Amino acid sequence: MARKLAGAALAPFRRKLLAWYRSAKRDLPWRRTRDPYRIWLAEIMLQQTRVAAVIPYYERFLDRFPTMESLAHASIESVLRLWSGLGYYSRARNLHRAAQEIVARHASQFPRDWDAALALPGIGRYTAAAILSIAYNERHAVLDGNVARVFARLDAIRGDLRAPRRWQALETRAQELLAQRAPGDWNQATMELGATVCLPKAPRCNACPVRPWCRAAALGIAEELPAARKKLRTVRVTLAAAVFLDPRGRTLVLRSNAAEAALFSRLWQFPAVEAGGDPRKALASHLKSEFGLRDLSFEPAGDSRHSVTFRQIRLAAFLVRVKSLPRVAGAKTPKLGDLHHLPISNATRKIAGQVRLLLSRRR
Ligand code: SF4
Repeated sequence: MARKLAGAALAPFRRKLLAWYRSAKRDLPWRRTRDPYRIWLAEIMLQQTRVAAVIPYYERFLDRFPTMESLAHASIESVLRLWSGLGYYSRARNLHRAAQEIVARHASQFPRDWDAALALPGIGRYTAAAILSIAYNERHAVLDGNVARVFARLDAIRGDLRAPRRWQALETRAQELLAQRAPGDWNQATMELGATVCLPKAPRCNACPVRPWCRAAALGIAEELPAARKKLRTVRVTLAAAVFLDPRGRTLVLRSNAAEAALFSRLWQFPAVEAGGDPRKALASHLKSEFGLRDLSFEPAGDSRHSVTFRQIRLAAFLVRVKSLPRVAGAKTPKLGDLHHLPISNATRKIAGQVRLLLSRRR
């Protein structure tokens, strides 16, 4: 059976994995550059988001903001607009704030120093290690869920990997295994192995370059590791939203407040309320109490589904036709068809889509 990787076995293990990475890696736009700005942007976009979804956003973003300065000097509205649809909008806000700090304090260069990188908004240990190793060849090992799974299988580690002491031990192990001469490629190789070969449910051990060193494969327990984590209970929520429409095709959107931030990410949204019972009644009462609006007529535009982390949300959209849009402080009144010019979340996009479908059926 494979022994725990150490000593003389480390060199051939590293050589094999690096050689595999260099020949088998996917050709991704952020792998064609060593520019720290571009690598940073890719790492932020890739947090919680699939590679295929990131590519078009990454390219559009760089067309519009090709340099650190151009991002730092842009308005947050224009940054959010380009991020619109990618989700987790705090990433875009932090990116923008960090770009301003980097221009002000680091001469427009992403800092090479570990503590300075970690001090920036939106940069955690994983992201700092990825950027510094890939852009500057600094010796910091990455550890996220994917990489932890690979190492847990290599060493046949049982139990919940996110338990603090186990995670700390994995961080130490990741640093031990790091190829000192090529930390950037090494980190990308471990990520690539986790993403394409050492898959969560069905690891492709027969195609794996490091199988000879893998204890889980030798023990026949690769698929059992890592141990499943306890899932958060799913919470079901109904959200009723009012899509106002005046005779000129204009609608009304607001900035979501802190309570709605999880769903609308503090972007522009239709007036909406969480409904415990009948969504139409809840919406009527919300519009009356919040904005003093009465005697509105609500046309149901159907439901759509949306999920945010552990919340499953039913979006109940209502078309509210009015002669003139209500005056609400801080609101915007774009044409319904022009809503995509504003930073909006996917939930708002779905609600608008439901109403547009209703209107197209009426024509
Ligand atoms: Fe993962 Fe299988 Fe490779 Fe081990 S041999 S690292 S379990 S893919």
